[in-house]
Amino acid sequence: MADTFPLAMMITPVKPGTRGQAVLERIGASVVLPPKKKMQLLVNPVSFVPPSMPCPQLTPENLCGIHKTKPIRCRTMPFYAYKDEDHQTDLLQPRGGWLCDTSDAAPVVYRDHRIVDRADFEAERGRLLDQASAIRRYADLLLKHSPAMMARVAKAAQTTPTGRVVASFVSYLRYDRGLDLAAFARAQHSLLRDWDTKTSGNPKMTEFNAYYREAAVELERYL
Ligand code: SF4
Repeated sequence: MADTFPLAMMITPVKPGTRGQAVLERIGASVVLPPKKKMQLLVNPVSFVPPSMPCPQLTPENLCGIHKTKPIRCRTMPFYAYKDEDHQTDLLQPRGGWLCDTSDAAPVVYRDHRIVDRADFEAERGRLLDQASAIRRYADLLLKHSPAMMARVAKAAQTTPTGRVVASFVSYLRYDRGLDLAAFARAQHSLLRDWDTKTSGNPKMTEFNAYYREAAVELERYL
């Protein structure tokens, strides 16, 4: 998806005892923050697009332009495999702009806190479990070698609700020697430059614009 979405890694501290997050023990990472406070971390790759902008793959007809190859994250929507299956109710409340059929005639998708058609949810959960050890290794090394990143995570952990920290996608790729960084850079670099241009000068998109610019510069050494 490097030629399709502007990619980033999102790190979100999760306060101990947060409901619906028991699965994080299996798929997330953890960190010990000063003074010796252990916290779970949700670490996920994301398409880093400002919330006020549509997905770049949404067509003018409001359809998915890559329906057959869209990410498994989209297939599982509105369910969320990063969260316990019995805590999905709040995800079923339609948000502004959603066209979901919630009438009595609509098919039941969630019953007794269990997802009725489970194929996509289980496929996504399976992939999260498969990647869990790589994610943990990444978080351990990133926070061990970057005091600045550790400080940002510690700060995000202090707010209520907790904040999130964005790291470059290439920061993840560096820890996986099986991946081709040059191929990733070739596919992602011009896309980041396009997003830099699209968001430049918009005061509501400063965080995103800075990310695109810095991530593009970071990639240039691999081109
Ligand atoms: S389904 Fe996913 S890839 Fe397709 S338009 Fe929606 S968010 Fe984008």
